[in-house]
Amino acid sequence: MKKRTILVHLTTLHPDDHYVGEKMKCFACDAEHRANAAAIVEDGTLGPDDAFAVPICNGCARIKDTTNVVLRKYLGAPELSIGEPGVLSDELFDALMESDKHSHH
Ligand SMILES: [Zn+2]
Repeated sequence: MKKRTILVHLTTLHPDDHYVGEKMKCFACDAEHRANAAAIVEDGTLGPDDAFAVPICNGCARIKDTTNVVLRKYLGAPELSIGEPGVLSDELFDALMESDKHSHH
């Protein structure tokens, strides 16, 4: 069976990463900042090794709930309630797909 769990976790960029200090827009709050942190999105629906990073400002990097903000933004579901921070379980995924069917304009 296809894995549909999506995980988000926050990480600090390694000082040697070439984009550290570059101007970025925070994925969570849209703030312009110098790149220092990122959220890693592991989307099991794309494939087993499909993880990618989105820029996160220093302020958001300190807030645990940022993982959920990223998850909601990524899914385009601002109202989604997430039990475990940064984890979209199979059950939540099913619920999201269900509500998607009904909310399309
Ligand atoms: Zn931010």
